[in-house]
Amino acid sequence: MTISKLINRLTLPVKLAVFPSFCELCGRLLLEPEEKIVCNQCLTKIDIHHGPVCRVCGRFISGENDMGSLCLECQNDPPPYELHRSLGPYSGHLKEMIILLKYKGNEPLASSLAEQLYRQFNPQGILAGIDFILPVPLHPKKERERGFNQAELIGRRLARLTGCPLNRDILIKTRNTPAQVSLEAKERELNLRGALAVRKKEFVRQRVLMLVDDVYTTGSTIKECALVLKKAGAREIRALTLARA
Ligand SMILES: [Zn+2]
Ligand SMILES: [Zn+2]
Repeated sequence: MTISKLINRLTLPVKLAVFPSFCELCGRLLLEPEEKIVCNQCLTKIDIHHGPVCRVCGRFISGENDMGSLCLECQNDPPPYELHRSLGPYSGHLKEMIILLKYKGNEPLASSLAEQLYRQFNPQGILAGIDFILPVPLHPKKERERGFNQAELIGRRLARLTGCPLNRDILIKTRNTPAQVSLEAKERELNLRGALAVRKKEFVRQRVLMLVDDVYTTGSTIKECALVLKKAGAREIRALTLARA
């Protein structure tokens, strides 16, 4: 019997005594089998935005604006995608969880966060009628260094929840670019120009595609992805991200 099979056969109290694990955020002992990395209580503390948003880019709108409103930026410079939504602002527990996921390699968190996306946006119909889920790609070199693409992990869980296939071979990164985090808005756009390519165009033409990423900052990454997919003939591009910075 392999070690992992043996561990799986241990009853929960034994497992907890031999391999106790603690919430990375609050330090509580993780008691529930589905709790991984972060406890259920911390998960419920994510500040999900329930108020009105711009109907295209998903910008959080404070005040009394209705759901059908369009922000100034989308009025003046419509993005190349049809719709984007984030769970909430890039702050507090959500920010800490994204950092744990991205920089400390806590992959099980991707599943928990994808479930939050599903719970929030599936009832709104945003996940309906999609042909493929596409993770925002990392350059293969960066993915090797990190060991995973966090966008793909989120997308895989969403694919399982929706039954819509994920495809990681359609949209690819052909040039390794400096991290967007270090750049200003205009530089971010230029940084990505020509760094993405579309393969298997037969899977893009006339399709409805859902991009998935962790953080939406200026939107330049999602916009550049949408632009190349539209050029390749996509009918509709939607995007979901965990947080909006
Ligand atoms: Zn906790
Ligand atoms: Zn907008």
